Amino acid sequence: MKRYSDIREECCAANKSLPSSGLVDLTFGNVSLCDRQAGVFAIKPSGVDYTALTPDDMVIVDFDGKVVEGSLNPSSDTPTHRRLFLAFPDIRSVVHTHSRKAVAFAQAAREIPLLGTTHADYFRGPIPLTRALTPEEINSAYEWETGNIIVERFANLNPNDIPAVLVRNHGPFAWGPSTAKAVENALALEIVADMAFHALTLAPNAVSPALALTEKHFLRKHGSSATYGQKQS
Ligand SMILES: [Zn+2]
Repeated sequence: MKRYSDIREECCAANKSLPSSGLVDLTFGNVSLCDRQAGVFAIKPSGVDYTALTPDDMVIVDFDGKVVEGSLNPSSDTPTHRRLFLAFPDIRSVVHTHSRKAVAFAQAAREIPLLGTTHADYFRGPIPLTRALTPEEINSAYEWETGNIIVERFANLNPNDIPAVLVRNHGPFAWGPSTAKAVENALALEIVADMAFHALTLAPNAVSPALALTEKHFLRKHGSSATYGQKQS
């Protein structure tokens, strides 16, 4: 009997949900989930087909990057996930995909501007874009350095208010307090990228609406005075 069965099962189910979400092509996507008390996280093994994944296949890694349990190699993106878990204390799950519209913005080296209320419902500002990695960073610990440039980009941003980023010329990472929320944020990111892409096609000079409107939408769904949805009993 393998340990960490709760995070194995939730992480496996989230990874298996990626193909039907429309967010991944081939094997370009992975989800991780951490247990902060145990000091470990579960992540998809590298290059394994989503349909074949089982909870026992999930690789358990500690916050120092050591594989604690698992016979398969963890996703090559594991150091990026680990860097984000270390830097952002409130998150429990990280999702990385190459979803196409978000990648289009990343490859165009453009942040996703906040152009409407759908975006503001999920993200309290534009989706930030990282700087380019230096050749030295690429040739040393590439995936860890990818995490570092994300953390660097969030020096003056709150990762709980903007739970996603575009890595320049690469693609999106999203996160949240559970796999369900992290996958939802990754999907919301792709939807707002698609909407922004079309808005900018129709109106290349489109600008953000008034802060009063975007704050109204964000704060209806987040924080202590949120009013969206049903009252919790
Ligand atoms: Zn990638």
